[in-house]
Formats: sequence, structure tokens, C-alpha cells
Amino acid sequence: MTTDALGPNATIGIIGGGQLGRMLALAAAELGLRTHIYCPDKDCPAAQVTDAVTHAAYDDTEALSAFSAAVDVVTYEFENIPVATVNHVAARKPVFPSAKALEVAQDRWQEKSFIRAQGFEVADFFDITDRASLNAALQETGGSGILKTRHFGYDGKGQWRLDADSDLDKVLEDLDGRAAILEALVPFEREVSILVARGRDGSTACYDVIENFHRNHTLHTSTLPAALPDHLPDADPANPHKMAEKLAHALDYVGVLAIECFVVGERLLVNEIAPRVHNSGHLTQDACHVGQFEQHIRAIAGWTLGDATAHSDAVMTNLLGDEIDQWPDLAAQKATHVHLYGKSEARAGRKMGHVTKLSAKTR
Ligand code: AMP
Repeated sequence: MTTDALGPNATIGIIGGGQLGRMLALAAAELGLRTHIYCPDKDCPAAQVTDAVTHAAYDDTEALSAFSAAVDVVTYEFENIPVATVNHVAARKPVFPSAKALEVAQDRWQEKSFIRAQGFEVADFFDITDRASLNAALQETGGSGILKTRHFGYDGKGQWRLDADSDLDKVLEDLDGRAAILEALVPFEREVSILVARGRDGSTACYDVIENFHRNHTLHTSTLPAALPDHLPDADPANPHKMAEKLAHALDYVGVLAIECFVVGERLLVNEIAPRVHNSGHLTQDACHVGQFEQHIRAIAGWTLGDATAHSDAVMTNLLGDEIDQWPDLAAQKATHVHLYGKSEARAGRKMGHVTKLSAKTR
């Protein structure tokens, strides 16, 4: 607990009003803390469960100043918020995680360079500015790879898988001058995420490694624990938890940090980091003593971190688009934890909710 820890009825400002903001606000309420959501979208899911809400654009400096004046600390729930927005708020109130973490996570080039500089593996990557740099990079990767925009990519958006048959002119036309990198293809066996929380006092708490299964580039199912080879003792610097702690310390991070990785044999390659609570961590709400949402609130409020240990194994499945219509069946399953986000429109692929099923711990 820090000396300036937030007490009952203090207010946490949350920039962004999606389902992550909603679940953060609910977790804050459980701890007696108030929340104030800042979100341009009038129909955002978090607005339904918060004490106060500001609907204004991310570049509305007057609204951002008023929001800052009304809260005690600020956090954000997605990484595509302009850094200028966070800097404006940070000049007025403490913001966790810092704008630096956001800046690194917003740019794939900076992100991969940072991870490499900390001594961890990433896929080979190359800066792409034009046809010549793309040709040169493809020579290095053996003719295949994934072209990714440096900024604003998520759930497979802003990505092109390239091989010998690809029409590179068309791809560059679609890229439309945006900054990009080419990544070598990683022949991964599994995709996992490591969630670590770091408190304002620098202490850390890690969740067990979670395994992720995607469909159409969107997370479909996460399982706890991941089926990882049990080969790395805690003292090994490549141990997933040691890696997560090192990255969190290097960013002087406060809050929950998600690190998405590929598993290739005994190697762990970092794909990307998310400076926020993460979809793959939703199962921690039900399967761990303290879930990721409460943990994030504890961290930014200056509280002691909670126990991240799992009491159960778990499988979390996202409800996308009209899968939300299954809710009566899911609600009828007594051992299924149902979480719905209150979104009014079930567009195709939109995250509408998730369900978590627990089972006895196997390890
Ligand atoms: P990302 O937007 O970077 O999270 O990528 C979305 C998905 O594309 C990942 O979850 C992987 O399934 C796949 N992917 C991304 N980068 C690579 C890579 N370098 N090699 C193989 N698959 C990848």
C-alpha cells in the first residue's frame, strides 16, 4: 500500500468506454471506488455502470481538463488513444500506465525493438517504406511473411500475409503509404499470453500462462493453464514470469500488462504487448483469487496487489456478434459464468460478452 493510496469514494478516471472499461468500473465499485468514464461514443458499455461519464472527443482539451479535475488518478482501456490525449491528462493528474508504455505499444517497430533490447526474442522484422524495401525484406525472410501497419492494427486488421503468389503492387496500394513492418512467419505451436501486474511500489504479481485460440484473427477461446513445456525454472531469465516482470519494470509500468507470445519448441517469441487488461485474461475474474480487473484497480490505486493464483482451471469463450443470442442456453448452465457487455447492436464479429467454465485444478 502506498502512502497516497486511494481510499473509499476516490474517483478513478477511465479513458475509453468499451467492455474493458465496463469491467474495470465494476471491479472499482467492488472496492468502494468511484469511476468516471471518458468516451466519445454515447452508447458505450461502460457508461451503464459508472458514477460519471464525459462524452467528448479525444482531442477536446477543454473536456479533458474538466475530466482530469474531476478524478484522482486516470487509466485507459485501449491502446489506440492518442498519446497527446494521455499527455494532456498526465500534466494534470497521475496516469497509469504511463504514456511511455502506450507509446511503445502503439508502434510495432518501437515495441519489437524494445522487447529485443530487453533480451527477449521476437520474429525478425523489417521497416517497409516502399516496393524496394519490401522486396529486400522478403529476400531476407525467404519470400514469405506478414506485412503489418506499424500503428492501429488489431485483430488482424492492417495485416497482409505474403508469399510467392502475393500481388505486392495491390498490397502496397492497400497499405496506402502507411508506415509498416514485414515480419518473418513464426512456425508456432501455440499462442499464449502472460499477464503481469505491477503496483505503484514496484511489486509484481503474475498470472499463470494462458493459451489462446483465434478464429478469423479474433480471440475465440482462452484456457488456463496453457499446455507449456514445464522446462524453465523460476531462476531462468527466459521463464515467462521473469520475462513479464522484466518488461514491466523496464517500462516503469503500473497496472496489468499483457504479453502475447508464440511458443516454438522451447522458445518463447513475443508478438506484442498490450498496456491494459486483456481479453485473454477475462478468465482470471472467475478462476483466480484476484482477477485482472480488480488487480489493475488495486495497482493504479496504490493498493497492495492481490493474489493472482488460480483456484481452478478455466476455459473462456468469447460471444461474437449474434452468438449473444445463445444467452438463454448459457444462462441455463448452472456452472457457467456469463458476462454480457450491454451492447445494443450485435454487429458481425463484435465482442458482445464471454462465458467462463471452471474445472478442478490439474496442476
Ligand atoms: P497480431 O495483430 O500481431 O496480434 O497478429 C494477429 C494474429 O496473426 C496472431 O495472433 C497470430 O495468429 C498471427 N501472426 C501474427 N504475426 C505472426 C507471425 N510473425 N508469424 C505467424 N503468425 C503470426
